[in-house]
Amino acid sequence: MTLIDTHAHLAAEEFDADREEALARAREAGVAGIVCVGDRLDSSRASLELAQSRTGLWATAGVHPHYAREAGDDLERRLEELLAHPLVVAVGEVGLDYHYDFSPRDVQQDVFRRQIRLARAVGKPLVIHNRESDQDLVRILEEEKAGDVGGVLHCFWGDEALARAALEMGFYLGVGGPVTFKKSDALRQTLQGVPVERLIVETDAPYLAPVPYRGKRNEPSYVVETAKQLAALKGLDLEELARITTENARRLFRIELNQTA
Ligand SMILES: [Zn+2]
Repeated sequence: MTLIDTHAHLAAEEFDADREEALARAREAGVAGIVCVGDRLDSSRASLELAQSRTGLWATAGVHPHYAREAGDDLERRLEELLAHPLVVAVGEVGLDYHYDFSPRDVQQDVFRRQIRLARAVGKPLVIHNRESDQDLVRILEEEKAGDVGGVLHCFWGDEALARAALEMGFYLGVGGPVTFKKSDALRQTLQGVPVERLIVETDAPYLAPVPYRGKRNEPSYVVETAKQLAALKGLDLEELARITTENARRLFRIELNQTA
């Protein structure tokens, strides 16, 4: 069985004490690839350094809406340097977060638009964060023609309308730990209506660990639990679900599992 954890913050300090061990556990669990996600410039750079250090790791570069107010005038130039590297496979994570509102909403929207334009300019897909901002998110994605490059709504936790809008624009949905939570019946029902060819799996480690690890630090090996739940939901055996979602991730991020730096 071969899985790809399509969203892990492996450069985060939560892994400083045991990053090697976590990577070994992931390999043992069948996780042959991990997309290391940046959420600001320094974590994007650190993610690329990780990806360069061994095979089976890739990076993204982008500024999360939480940090949008830190993005300077030279954001594009600094991200472009990172995005020029073949191991940086997407612009992300970027988007909107109206739950925490750590950055003012107009600033979030502006920085989001700029990064969509950048993704289109460099021809790489988007890794999108969204919380309580569905309407503005879809509107901006449409206005900025994000469908030209596509991407993933990561850790999808939205309703049917959002799923439909994303699929219409050619986006994938990233399925994470929440699909295993007891109270996630609505999410499971929504995902049941999404073709498996448009789903990828992720951990969002170190956050949002799936059951039975809920509340603990999340790590890439736990993506197996999410894949199991999704397989059951789709009436597929785990190997088949792994094969399809891994193929989807390879297609989206244009990666080969034997690719080296
Ligand atoms: Zn994330």
